[in-house]
Amino acid sequence: MAKKQFKTESKRLLDLMVNSIYTNREIFLRELISNASDALDKRHYMSLTDDKYRCSEPLTIQIIPNREDRTLTIEDNGIGMNREELEENLGTIAHSGSELFKASLQENPEVDIIGQFGVGFYSSFMAARKVEVYSRTVDDGGYLWTSEGQDGYTISECEKEKTGTRITLYLREDTDDIKYSDYLDTYKLEALVKKYSDYIRYPIQMMVEKQRLKEGSEDEYETYQELKTLNSMVPLWRRNKKDITEQEYNDFYRSKFADWEAPAKVIHYSLEGNVSYRALLFIPSKVPYNFYSKDFEAGLQLYSKGVFIKDHAKELLPDYFYFVKGLVDSDDFSLNISREILQQDSQLQALGKSVTKKIKSTLVTMLTKEREEYEKFYKNFGSSLKYGVYQDFGINKKELEDLLLFYSSKDEKYVTLKEYVERMKEGQKEIYYCTGKNISQIKSVPQMEQFLEKGYEVLYLTEDIDEFALMMMRDYQEKPFKSVQQADVSIQSEEEKKQKEEVQKANESLLKKMGESLGGKVKEVRISSHLKKNPVCLVSEEGISMEMEKYLSQLPNSDSPKATKILEINADHEIFEVIKKAYENHPEDIDSYADLLYQQALLIEGFPIDDPVKFSNQICDLMKKAG
Ligand code: ADP
Ligand code: MG
Repeated sequence: MAKKQFKTESKRLLDLMVNSIYTNREIFLRELISNASDALDKRHYMSLTDDKYRCSEPLTIQIIPNREDRTLTIEDNGIGMNREELEENLGTIAHSGSELFKASLQENPEVDIIGQFGVGFYSSFMAARKVEVYSRTVDDGGYLWTSEGQDGYTISECEKEKTGTRITLYLREDTDDIKYSDYLDTYKLEALVKKYSDYIRYPIQMMVEKQRLKEGSEDEYETYQELKTLNSMVPLWRRNKKDITEQEYNDFYRSKFADWEAPAKVIHYSLEGNVSYRALLFIPSKVPYNFYSKDFEAGLQLYSKGVFIKDHAKELLPDYFYFVKGLVDSDDFSLNISREILQQDSQLQALGKSVTKKIKSTLVTMLTKEREEYEKFYKNFGSSLKYGVYQDFGINKKELEDLLLFYSSKDEKYVTLKEYVERMKEGQKEIYYCTGKNISQIKSVPQMEQFLEKGYEVLYLTEDIDEFALMMMRDYQEKPFKSVQQADVSIQSEEEKKQKEEVQKANESLLKKMGESLGGKVKEVRISSHLKKNPVCLVSEEGISMEMEKYLSQLPNSDSPKATKILEINADHEIFEVIKKAYENHPEDIDSYADLLYQQALLIEGFPIDDPVKFSNQICDLMKKAG
């Protein structure tokens, strides 16, 4: 029979499994049991609407160690696989756990991480030199998939009486360091099941040896075999919170949601009322590697009375909480109506609303009681919240505004909007912010100097989404958001304003001339009230800001909207004197001076200049004149 080759990615993973120096090989059992449990779930689910899937016996998982053959068998009477499915599921690496593993491997080529999370079926090769998978679906005969690792696999027809899957591992020979034969030991196996798979909903059974007094004897014992259920079968989320250890939550999360790090937050609760349900939710401690790709599947698992119904139920979470993983188990859904339940939208919606509320209140508590934890969380998922504010025209504003954090000029730390407003200067009516790529760039924005000097706190917006979110929110506690780079922002005293107006008037014709020189590039040229050290700056009118213009220009949309800009000149700067003189003596130079100042202002704002060659020639001309 022709051997088939594994797909390249699978081969790599297999190599790692086979040659793994990883000590935590035991997790292969957890993986095989969890696959068996999934298969039982699928069969159970199908049987609700189709009688042919019904099973006359209880759905179980059997563990069968055999010392003579040195094999360990895991058998289920679940959904089974036909030839194509064996090929598809076991010959390629298209499935979740292993895919995740692959990604993390690219980031972190240490083999150490194997086994800390779901690596799936291939993990069986960590303990076995050869694996046989006998499987049968309700529609077809049996098939045998067999492989000795890297050099491929074969699939052939075989006898198999019952629907389901039987996986036999031919354990490797013991070495000085590793005793594979431990996996034939019933105590060891029982301990492993308890450790990793206790909550599995189906009985995991094994024949165990027991001792009893021989009949009619008082001191002679005999051993006998008894089928023992090894797991307690109570789903973790149905147990009492008090009795669950952190370790148990973490193990559950890692194995169920394929993450190799413990969650940042566990939210476990139950509610009785309009909607009654239990939920076990987790906030990951890292951004999932594919969070921003289309492969990321958001949503919670949905259970009814402990029975799995649906994965990735997106209805249960608003987009801005898509980072939450976990499950919801509600008694209100009657399983008998099976698939129709999913049409019961209103019930799902009510459930979703309640879950959302709980997540929010948990975050609020975290923010007030565990600030450090919250900031860590926010670094990971804050963008989701800000995106949530931006979406739907700020409809979620009220929900989310108190969860937002921004860096601020005060200690360059995160602040909430509430904190900002509480310590605003007397008479301050607006919330000031400044946008830029990073904090140091923001600090060099010419207008910042005066704001800081006058003791105003300024929010530092460093992410693209920040300003868009604020624009949607418009205000917080009736205090509008205002960019320090906006044309009409004003923190001047009456006197300063008057002074400025005078200078403006005195130089009216020069400023007008400069404006004309720049054509349509700026709306006007005027005397600035914001500048201290810098000779010039750009400000924008309300609407599209300069940072937004930069962001929008990166998008694949040819004519994105632009900010309406105003060029401001520092009347106290030496350069202004030079220009004034030039205007008197060589008015023909004003064109190029205006242009130079404008290009300079563009550079300061982090815009590309229009014509670098022209700019450089202009500077050369200027130097020649000076020399
Ligand atoms: P994952 O469980 O993350 O999908 P695995 O490598 O553990 O990845 O399993 C690959 C696939 O093989 C499963 O998705 C499932 O379709 C199939 N499979 C594995 N074990 C069984 C089983 N005991 N019964 C039926 N199908 C199975
Ligand atoms: Mg699996």
